[in-house]
Amino acid sequence: MSFEIWLVATAAEELPPLAAAAQSGGATVVVVAVGGRELAQAASAVGAAKVHWIEVGPGLVAEAYGPAVARLAAEAPARVWLSGPSPAARALLGGAAVAAGAALVGGGTAVSLDGQTVLVERNALDGAVIETLAADGPVAVVWDSNEGQPDVSGSASPVLPVAAPAPLAVERRSVEAAAGADGLASAERVVGVGRGVKARADLAMVEDLARALGAEMACSMPIADDLHWYPEERYVGRSGQKIAPLVYLALGISGEPQHMEGVRSAKAVVAVNNNPEAVIFRTATYGVVADLYEFVPALARALEDS
Ligand SMILES: Cc1cc2nc3c(=O)[nH]c(=O)nc-3n(C[C@H](O)[C@H](O)[C@H](O)COP(=O)(O)OP(=O)(O)OC[C@H]3O[C@@H](n4cnc5c(N)ncnc54)[C@H](O)[C@@H]3O)c2cc1C
Repeated sequence: MSFEIWLVATAAEELPPLAAAAQSGGATVVVVAVGGRELAQAASAVGAAKVHWIEVGPGLVAEAYGPAVARLAAEAPARVWLSGPSPAARALLGGAAVAAGAALVGGGTAVSLDGQTVLVERNALDGAVIETLAADGPVAVVWDSNEGQPDVSGSASPVLPVAAPAPLAVERRSVEAAAGADGLASAERVVGVGRGVKARADLAMVEDLARALGAEMACSMPIADDLHWYPEERYVGRSGQKIAPLVYLALGISGEPQHMEGVRSAKAVVAVNNNPEAVIFRTATYGVVADLYEFVPALARALEDS
């Protein structure tokens, strides 16, 4: 029995695995291509009956066209919807599933029709088990992966442009290279911050000092893991980075062994802590009992004057 499978695609490499899966079950393929002209061209070459093409406007992303995809889904009688696993494709498929009244299933590896029942296979328990899900109504399936690019070339399908507004603006800003931690492991000077720093905005003051010292920034685990003020690659310690600078300036860090394991190879550890009993003073090469909010600007001024 012939049935239609609609594919939602946001990138060319998503198409061959989906089209091959649909065609192997004997289905007629219809593609909803949300992307540039190249995607529309790729979609028209996978043996589909037709391609609905939603062109992604300049500076926008595929997800901006969720309502348009949902509208198509609401009008389509398709029993089966498929998408690749990319975040954009999944987001669009989710909207289509709601509009089509379809159950949404992840991790599909095969799809077929048994009478009126749609059967979806997927791996479970790390691939030790294959599950077969039986759906009496429409079903939307996120495909397992884009891996494998089977040859699905067919004669050119008609491409039907869909005019669609994009009710979603996108702003892009580049992430400074400093966000990574490439230089940390080999840095000669490192300034580390801990929970003694009270607010994220206060990091600017410390970063200014680090720049003046020609130092890389590092932090304790809670600063990265709990507060997310720096990426995880920037925390040092037992479960973080191991560093070996000439000088490690630890500001507002208690100096628990889990942290100090990461700086064991530092030539010198200079600890600044306002608690004279802080454990970091037991292992630091030099200890300064001070409020970091006084110490940091004072050192910055001294560097400027020198
Ligand atoms: C299995 C395990 C693995 C772990 N691995 C790591 C790891 O890899 N790296 C890591 O960092 N931690 C790790 N930890 C966590 C670690 O035990 C500590 O909890 C953590 O390092 C403490 O972070 P902190 O020093 O920033 O915060 P706190 O312990 O809260 O210390 C803050 C310090 O700042 C001082 N202070 C406060 N205000 C000021 C001020 N104005 N001026 C100066 N000083 C001030 C305080 O006196 C205090 O000593 C691990 C823990 C576990 C259980």
